[in-house]
Amino acid sequence: MKYDKNNIFAKILRKEISCKKIFENEHVLSFYDINPQKKIHALVIPKGEYINLDDFNHKASDQEIVALNKAITIVAGLLNISINKGKGYRALTNLGEYGGQEVPHLHFHLFGGENVGKMVE
Ligand code: 5GP
Repeated sequence: MKYDKNNIFAKILRKEISCKKIFENEHVLSFYDINPQKKIHALVIPKGEYINLDDFNHKASDQEIVALNKAITIVAGLLNISINKGKGYRALTNLGEYGGQEVPHLHFHLFGGENVGKMVE
């Protein structure tokens, strides 16, 4: 499967579409989900062109992989939902059709600010 340069997150990265930014560094961008499913719902995405987590783990550099992982914890801290600052949260990524992925650019969802409930409904 080829990366679709016209997906919505690619447009956000190119600043063709705006987002409510939470955090950014060389490898990662984080912003609020446009349609929050929980009290706090953030997204953390790599800046590189990766379709999903498997694609990322196959192709990304070690620096990119470390940066994305660390960004999840950084963003959770900024939002005060981390174990250190808050009461915890859920980080998840959907992969492909059966995983329920809608936007074909790797993204982690961070849900928190309240009890986020059962893992799978
Ligand atoms: P997926 O189902 O692919 O795991 O999640 C895609 C997420 O992207 C959804 O939660 C959806 O609300 C969010 N989303 C879709 N379009 C936009 C957008 O234009 N801006 C932002 N901030 N989030 C978006």
